[in-house]
Amino acid sequence: HHFPSATFLTSAPRLADCPADTGLEVAFAGRSNAGKSSAINTLTHQKSLARTSRTPGRTQLINFFTVNDPQYRLVDLPGYGYAKVPEAVRREWQEHLAHYLRERRSLQGTVLVMDIRHPLTEFDQMMMGWADDNDMPLHILLTKADKLKRGAAMGVLSKVRHQLKEWEDLISVQLFSSQDRVGVEELNERLCQWLTP
Ligand code: GDP
Repeated sequence: HHFPSATFLTSAPRLADCPADTGLEVAFAGRSNAGKSSAINTLTHQKSLARTSRTPGRTQLINFFTVNDPQYRLVDLPGYGYAKVPEAVRREWQEHLAHYLRERRSLQGTVLVMDIRHPLTEFDQMMMGWADDNDMPLHILLTKADKLKRGAAMGVLSKVRHQLKEWEDLISVQLFSSQDRVGVEELNERLCQWLTP
């Protein structure tokens, strides 16, 4: 798999609008502003494949990108949890997200992006609950690792790993930085593993 080849396929407001549920795909999720769009752009070596937004929570569409072949896809799930969003809208996203995670057969795993300074938010824990319910593997990026000194970043990594010990079959964790391109190879490996039939 060669992620720089990623190209935009389509946007879907709801599960019913998603492309045919065949082949293999990997989703990216995260609380708004965690650094998800930046991580996708870093992975694919593209400046604006996923839009990095200054208005968190505005992207409410599921965006699909193909990698080499339409049978291999990256999926950018709606950013979640910005405080300014009305409760009804928040509930609707939550339902779409849960529905996608539950029903999508081509989904091999989800990359859950967390700001290393604010790991394991309420949203993250909800995602972990859904992953557990659906036996879906999660790979956590502790991103913006450049914001902490190396030792402090390693400290957060081991603390988060320790907290997720009971889920270690389903959940893996790594450091990441879009700014310094830290952890790109490790992420690449996990995605290739998931996208290999
Ligand atoms: P999203 O809402 O999760 O897609 O988050 P974005 O990718 O749009 O990033 C939110 C903000 O964090 C932007 O101002 C980014 O420039 C910044 N950001 C994202 N990743 C990193 C990183 O690895 N290091 C630093 N220092 N800033 C980052």
